[in-house]
Amino acid sequence: MPETLIQAIKAEAARQGFVLAGVTTPDPPPHWNTYLTWLVEERHGQMAYLATERARLCRRDPSRLLPDCQSILVLGIPYPNPGPDAPEADSGSPQGHVAAYAWGEDYHLVLPERLKALVAFIEDRVGGPVANRWYTDTGPLLERDLAQRAGLGWIGKNTCLINPAIGSCFFLAEILLALDLEPDPPFPADRCGTCTRCIDACPTGCILPDRTIDARHCISYLTIENKGRIPPELRPSIGTWVFGCDICQMVCPWNRFAIRQADPAFAPRPEVAHPTLAVDMTLTPQDFNRKFRNSPIQRAKRRGYLRNVALALGNSRPDNILPALANALQDKEPLVRESAAWALENQNTCKK
Ligand code: SF4
Ligand code: SF4
Repeated sequence: MPETLIQAIKAEAARQGFVLAGVTTPDPPPHWNTYLTWLVEERHGQMAYLATERARLCRRDPSRLLPDCQSILVLGIPYPNPGPDAPEADSGSPQGHVAAYAWGEDYHLVLPERLKALVAFIEDRVGGPVANRWYTDTGPLLERDLAQRAGLGWIGKNTCLINPAIGSCFFLAEILLALDLEPDPPFPADRCGTCTRCIDACPTGCILPDRTIDARHCISYLTIENKGRIPPELRPSIGTWVFGCDICQMVCPWNRFAIRQADPAFAPRPEVAHPTLAVDMTLTPQDFNRKFRNSPIQRAKRRGYLRNVALALGNSRPDNILPALANALQDKEPLVRESAAWALENQNTCKK
């Protein structure tokens, strides 16, 4: 039987590393009202870009992003599965934890070329230009809703999209197309069942019953999107996470038993994935840029990352970290100095 267009597109997507691919329509996504409620409750914190009128309207009607949109191709590409065990932080030289999606190259740098190649393939197959827009979590789309409707998985209680074969450790990307493709059936079921492991394990209790997260208390938000001070009452809960948090994915049974097949582009750089806190506390701006070249950690900027490292040191115990913290009291960034002062104070308090 000859290969259909959509079969050819999915085969090409797989060649580009997208192990998941499905098609849906640009109809309004089912959880738009949940997203609106989330905004009204101000659970998006400082992420004002999520609450603009354009952001709200485009999420309700993806056709606003591409007026002739007929189909949305939703794609998934795996990053490393962090596994159930976080690196030890109580050794003589404590290590920080970094969310697994940030262990390798920045997906914002890796995925565009592949999406462009996929669009070129589609245009070649149909014999002419096809109006399109693509996104790698950069656009105003409720991408997990679209992914569920394209058959890629279900939205778990931890708010991640979960695929029964590969778990939840994958990036989503979308290509809006002015091309009529047969939609895939939606993913049929919620397979969380009675499990509540992610909710029970979340250190800050920020996973809400409507499958949203109160970002203001989520370690991922606090260590990446939040550009200022981290509220002192939340600092102990952050533990030694210095960029993001994987706890609600690490405890999920669907990740424990998932196929582990990260794309080579996202292979861990050991010094990035498991940083030695006392070493990273001393990074100069030049060191920071060198170490995190093409890394998602650039998003936190040096001052945000060193703020996180200082707090992680404050949550660690060995005495040999004190010189690094004392040195950070002289940092040119007030945010780093304030975090280092808290860390030293926290060390003293814990020893009393
Ligand atoms: S990323 Fe961490 S802090 Fe955020 S919801 Fe998951 S477990 Fe909780
Ligand atoms: S840990 Fe359990 S409840 Fe949470 S997302 Fe995974 S299966 Fe669902």
